[in-house]
Amino acid sequence: MPDTWTTLKVLTWTKGYLAEKGVENARLEAEWLLCAALGMDRVGLYVNFDKPLTAAELTACRALVSRRARREPLQYILGSQDFYGLDFEVAPGVLIPRHDTEILVREAAGRCPPAGRVLDIGVGSGCIAVALAKELPGIEMTGCDPSSAALELAARNAARHAVVLALVAGSLFEPFQGMMFDLIVSNPPYIPSADLDTLQAEVRDHEPRQALDGGADGLDFYRRIIPEAPCHLVPGGWLLLEIGMGQAADVRGLFEAADKFTEIFSARDTGGIERVIGGRKW
Ligand code: GLN
Repeated sequence: MPDTWTTLKVLTWTKGYLAEKGVENARLEAEWLLCAALGMDRVGLYVNFDKPLTAAELTACRALVSRRARREPLQYILGSQDFYGLDFEVAPGVLIPRHDTEILVREAAGRCPPAGRVLDIGVGSGCIAVALAKELPGIEMTGCDPSSAALELAARNAARHAVVLALVAGSLFEPFQGMMFDLIVSNPPYIPSADLDTLQAEVRDHEPRQALDGGADGLDFYRRIIPEAPCHLVPGGWLLLEIGMGQAADVRGLFEAADKFTEIFSARDTGGIERVIGGRKW
């Protein structure tokens, strides 16, 4: 151990420690964690390489680094994640927005009437709902979620981006009896239960199972959402759903079996994976 912990020494030590704990981009993440702990940007970090840290600064660094060493996602520690070019607050208990989901927003925005009524089932952090409302300022956006932590976070993200979201506690369509929408979107839980334990530690040990677990084959929520959605869609209204890798054929089959949808389509994410399936109520 060095006698004096300069910024550079702490950075080098943190990088080695995180790498040992299985963190992939250990050097970069070490920089971000130190920036957050010390309240500086990366340039600040670099120009202070030789500066010895105070005891309080070391304590602050240690607190953040030990969280990351336990494989808590960096986004929970830093408290934010970019999605669709917008900065979202994220917090433990709510799924972290994924860039893969941006295609759902793009496909939905292209099909939504400018003053449409839109429902996001399982609103989570609010990333889809807020991004859609930013894209189409005339829409009336509603989101529901069974998690109160999610609803509180979505409300903060709506306020952060100055959009109005109606947020409702509840599961799937249960709070919306008799209500009609022009567009329904959802990124439901879709990981097969048995696969949950094979996910990377950050997801497996820290993100909410409730937002990931799609039942035995991962398709439980599609089986519930797709048959019921037509009761809440105006004629010509759209249902767009995010899906997991390899689920396109099965979910398309559920759209076809519902016998209420035309113009069934799929869209690929930037990685080339079929990520969205949608259909239009006839
Ligand atoms: N895309 C997320 C993941 O890979 C899963 C999100 C979901 O189940 N809807 O971890």
